[in-house]
Amino acid sequence: MAQCVIKPDLEFVRELQESGGDSLKKCYQCATCSVACPLAPANAPYPRKEMVWASWGLKDKLMGDADLWLCHNCGNCSDLCPRGAKPADMMSAARNVIYRDLVEPKSIGTLMSKPSGLPVLFAIPALLWLVIWAIRASIVGAWFPRTFDGRIVFGQIFYGDYTIDPIFMLTFFGALFIIGRGVVKLWGMFKPEGTLTVIGQKRCWLLHLWDVLWDEVITHKKFSDCEEGPNTGKTHYNRQFGHLLLVYSFCILAFVTAIVAGGHWIGKIWPVVSIETPMPLTFPVKLLANLGALMLLAGLAILTVRRWLQNNKNHGSSWHDWYLLGIIWAVALTGVLSQCFRLADCVVPAFMVYYLHLVFVWMLFAYLPWTKLGHFVYRTAALVYVRMYGRG
Ligand code: SF4
Ligand code: SF4
Repeated sequence: MAQCVIKPDLEFVRELQESGGDSLKKCYQCATCSVACPLAPANAPYPRKEMVWASWGLKDKLMGDADLWLCHNCGNCSDLCPRGAKPADMMSAARNVIYRDLVEPKSIGTLMSKPSGLPVLFAIPALLWLVIWAIRASIVGAWFPRTFDGRIVFGQIFYGDYTIDPIFMLTFFGALFIIGRGVVKLWGMFKPEGTLTVIGQKRCWLLHLWDVLWDEVITHKKFSDCEEGPNTGKTHYNRQFGHLLLVYSFCILAFVTAIVAGGHWIGKIWPVVSIETPMPLTFPVKLLANLGALMLLAGLAILTVRRWLQNNKNHGSSWHDWYLLGIIWAVALTGVLSQCFRLADCVVPAFMVYYLHLVFVWMLFAYLPWTKLGHFVYRTAALVYVRMYGRG
């Protein structure tokens, strides 16, 4: 008779429990959660199998599981679990543990996994921008300078050509490179589960990617599928709308940044397209930037209130959840406040808050591969993978 040897990784179970899956041992495998999940297909259901693997400590099975990344953390399964085993929290904890070690340097992943790592994560960009501030202040002759006509121009200290542009370009493309390696590694680990058939591979993966981007990013259709899922008796706090506001505001702000950077650099050789900063408030690009900032604040407010009001008996909020919300709040508030202080002609608070804004923006981009924003990329990769293996 064939034998199957199971090697439980008890350290992995402990890590899952510490990362938010503390109730996983309550599971008695009734499968209600897999029936309740509005996103799980009948031929490859989740999250019951993940609960079994997690409580047995089958790390390899979970690491090769594409379904883990398809979960949208709506919590329907946890609401209907008769044992209070919180399968949604366990799925989230498993993702957190896996992307902590997915890419190099792992030391950043370790720091990102707990609140005690935050001071170091903050200190790195705080020191970097402080050194730049000190060097530029010694050249300009003041820590809080004004232009010859009395205006506040942040570029006098944080000069775009030599500081902001090269540092953020390096940081952004460095993070993209790291997360790209993570995606390749994740794809290498995935193993088809259930009755997936290889029919979709005939289609180019780029076409699958477009379908996923349409469903996941442009329309956020999966979020409405979750909200229209089984009746769990709970109130929905419009998660889809909050996420959509956030995604579209990021797109607007990225577009504005590209226009300003393009205007600055192309304007050096073709002055007609040159854009001067700070831009007047009525300038179309500035209007668009402020619209993006308002949408960002509205989306953040909706998602924060929703998380605050959710039923803690069935759902927990992990450090990763609060870190991402917190860092986006910090970026948005310091961005808006630095503009307000500049317009109000308060030179010291304007430079101080702008300095903090640069620190938080750097943290947002540089640590992206280890945050829930990175999860968005990994989920896209997993969705393309399962579509390639025949799942619609
Ligand atoms: S997590 Fe809950 S609903 Fe899912 S199998 Fe376990 S006990 Fe049943
Ligand atoms: S949290 Fe939602 S999407 Fe994730 S497994 Fe549970 S029901 Fe499915």
